[in-house]
Amino acid sequence: MTTALTADVAIVGGGIIGLATAERLTAHGASVVLIDDTGATGGATSASGGLVRAFEPTGAHAAWAAEGCARYQRRGWHGTWPELREHGSLTLLDRDSLVRAGAALETAHAAGHETVVLDPGEIARTFPGLAVPEHLLGVLEPRAGWLPVTAVARAVLRDAGSTLRLLTARATALLTRPLSRIRGVRTTSGPVYADAVLLAAGAGSEPLAASVGVRLPMRTRAVGYCLFRCEDAASLANLPTVVDGTTGAWLRRWDTDGVVLAGVSSTRTGVPATVRRTVPAAEEQRVRSVVRHRCPQLSGARAVGGVAAYDALTPDGPAAVTSWPHPRGLVTAVGWNGGGFKLAPAVGRHAADELLKAVAR
Ligand SMILES: Cc1cc2nc3c(=O)[nH]c(=O)nc-3n(C[C@H](O)[C@H](O)[C@H](O)COP(=O)(O)OP(=O)(O)OC[C@H]3O[C@@H](n4cnc5c(N)ncnc54)[C@H](O)[C@@H]3O)c2cc1C
Repeated sequence: MTTALTADVAIVGGGIIGLATAERLTAHGASVVLIDDTGATGGATSASGGLVRAFEPTGAHAAWAAEGCARYQRRGWHGTWPELREHGSLTLLDRDSLVRAGAALETAHAAGHETVVLDPGEIARTFPGLAVPEHLLGVLEPRAGWLPVTAVARAVLRDAGSTLRLLTARATALLTRPLSRIRGVRTTSGPVYADAVLLAAGAGSEPLAASVGVRLPMRTRAVGYCLFRCEDAASLANLPTVVDGTTGAWLRRWDTDGVVLAGVSSTRTGVPATVRRTVPAAEEQRVRSVVRHRCPQLSGARAVGGVAAYDALTPDGPAAVTSWPHPRGLVTAVGWNGGGFKLAPAVGRHAADELLKAVAR
């Protein structure tokens, strides 16, 4: 049997973006139904490495990265989220890229984040497990690091309280009323009527937007990581999170001593929207062959697991929160392309503001 639900806002997608938005909406007194076919956090969020930093050298969403990092440092809006593992975040760049990233660095400073530029000698002295060639520089953020993503998502859900209702169902189309105004979402468990709708369903947002004539091209991109167990755990004891803008490598300490999580960005798109807890041998080889140049211990380290997953990207441009004029009341928050976790508190705040405006109109 199907039943109709009613709320101020319906959200499709219970990943970190949908959850962070739902929490902000309920904090402002709005009722929310969150629709997700996996229950919640079954998509890219369930696989996320959880790296958080304020400095976003590409400049895309630099202000949201700084805001997101500050919110994670404060353990959310009520001090209830897990504590940020402040192992430090080191972003490696060549000298020209660092010059071009001046505005992004300024954005991080303006938001109160400490950053220190280190040369390769200083990096080697501070982090003996790392090897950085002469032509690179590192931007160290001592108070950045990583978070256990699923525990954060659970905490956000708890903060949202009982005015958030979870509906485990597949959204199949959006509903509109006359005069191009959103009416809600059709789902496999019945309709959800709402004055505003957020699509935060990654690539699953595209057909839903198309059902009301909104063009929102999306693609999946492969994102994954391997876990490596190192013989000499002591030399990795102070390893920071590392993001290497020159090779696409990224790594951090795992929860267990001597284990390192490491990935390398991939250009493979159109991959299935699935999360697998195993890594094919060829992918392990690809990751190892790159990350060993920054963390030499990983060349001989035993692979002990990992994740092969995906994130959604918008081929027409960067990720965005968009409030659509037609139908009125539709907001989309998509295209995070491997970097949405660190932005989520800021994206959720901004998307909630847009939805509250839509409800009030
Ligand atoms: C391996 C990996 C490592 C990463 N590491 C980092 C990192 O270190 N730092 C960082 O900042 N970011 C990282 N990211 C990126 C970050 O995790 C994602 O950008 C973020 O989780 C995206 O969240 P989301 O809410 O937009 O999407 P998702 O988490 O994918 O959530 C979308 C949800 O929508 C649901 N859905 C889709 N279609 C429908 C439908 N029709 N009906 C109902 N439900 C639907 C899906 O089931 C899913 O649960 C990583 C991603 C991966 C995969």
